[in-house]
Amino acid sequence: MEGFEKYYQKDHQTRLDILKQKKYLDQTQLDKLQASASEVKISDAMIENFITEYHLPEGLALNYVVDGQEYLIPFVTEEPSVVAAASHGAALVKRAGGFKTTVTERLMIGQIILENVAHPEQVASFLESQAEKLLALANAAHPSIVKRGGGAQALKVRVLAPDLISLDLIVDVKEAMGANMLNTMLEACATYLQTKLGLDVLISILSNYATRCLAKATCALPVELLTRNGLSGAKIAQKIATASRVAQLDPYRATTHNKGIMNGIDAVVLASGNDWRAIEAGAHAYAARDGQYRGLSTWIVKDDILYGELELPLPLGTVGGSIGIVPLVKINQQLLRLKDARQLEAIVAAVGLGQNLAALYALVTDGIQKGHMRLQLKSLALSVGATKAELEPVVSRLEALQARDQATAKKVLEELRN
Ligand code: NDP
Repeated sequence: MEGFEKYYQKDHQTRLDILKQKKYLDQTQLDKLQASASEVKISDAMIENFITEYHLPEGLALNYVVDGQEYLIPFVTEEPSVVAAASHGAALVKRAGGFKTTVTERLMIGQIILENVAHPEQVASFLESQAEKLLALANAAHPSIVKRGGGAQALKVRVLAPDLISLDLIVDVKEAMGANMLNTMLEACATYLQTKLGLDVLISILSNYATRCLAKATCALPVELLTRNGLSGAKIAQKIATASRVAQLDPYRATTHNKGIMNGIDAVVLASGNDWRAIEAGAHAYAARDGQYRGLSTWIVKDDILYGELELPLPLGTVGGSIGIVPLVKINQQLLRLKDARQLEAIVAAVGLGQNLAALYALVTDGIQKGHMRLQLKSLALSVGATKAELEPVVSRLEALQARDQATAKKVLEELRN
């Protein structure tokens, strides 16, 4: 596009000036972009064609007792009610002793895809015979992780089709998520396979289906803790269990069930500086691991106890990527009193289950809209230009009118100002 040639080579100020020269934005808007960019040096080094920092609200989810320890959990999210719901779900579980978690080994899987394979079974057993050499090559490509006690541990060969093989490299990534680390190792092995063994490499990259890096959270709530507004706890627990069954049976419901779980998970993943697309991709693949897409969590009632369980891949890091670069991430790690990546996995799994409990509880009792309504009306009032002082009266008037549309919100605001 004219005027944007070599945009990536321009400095931050020049990039903004071009937007003004080309009449995309006026000076007031440029001033907003400038004001929103408080860490230009860092951000400009993080992404390409950087123009500003897009801020999202951060709040604290409360009441999370995980493996006997209570946490303040930073959530970064744009969605109203997520923090409130997560805190409510956790408060219920806290009264029953909190969440328990288990975290597996932290192994990541990377793939080298070989194409144009003529005799797949023969090539597969040849590759297996090369395991020691390939593991040594992988570790030599990233020796520092070996010094840290990690590194490439195993190889697995899978024939995908008569002409395609996946050579899976399994790596202990210690405190990192490990994408770059794995990609470096994979490329070193791929070069050897191609140049020394004459094999045809199509792709070498980490897999986000992190089935060797799983975290599980569970909770057990006596049903009487769920009692509300004349509805018995036993009845509510039964309805939650039935809703969980529906999410196991029906992908339409499972998708929304899992979206609710990810509301909390993504918010903490983002606050902790981790790659939420990687976590999303892995979670949804895991939800379909038996061939049908299902809810990631399950709830059952037995002997007047509601048991909840959530398991998913959580390859989260406490180092690497943007974690050491973004100043807020360090502060969030401190708020969490974070010691290591396994603890982060445990917390995030508990958040997913707490968020899910709150959503199901609301859905089978009042419905989701009642709790959301006030926050949504606040967003509506803001969207039509209400100031902080005007928010409360506009929201109350909209509640009284039972109105949720922009036209009424505008009218209410105008009436208030006149
Ligand atoms: P880095 O490339 O930043 O690597 C982490 C580095 O941290 C290690 O190489 C290691 O270097 C250092 N380190 C310090 N202490 C430790 C420790 N205790 N344990 C482990 N490492 C330690 O990050 P990752 O390899 O984790 O990659 C994550 C990034 O990759 C994310 O930003 C992600 O968005 C991106 N990415 C994701 C992809 C995907 O998901 N498919 C694909 C490509 C990139 P040293 O030992 O030398 O000090």
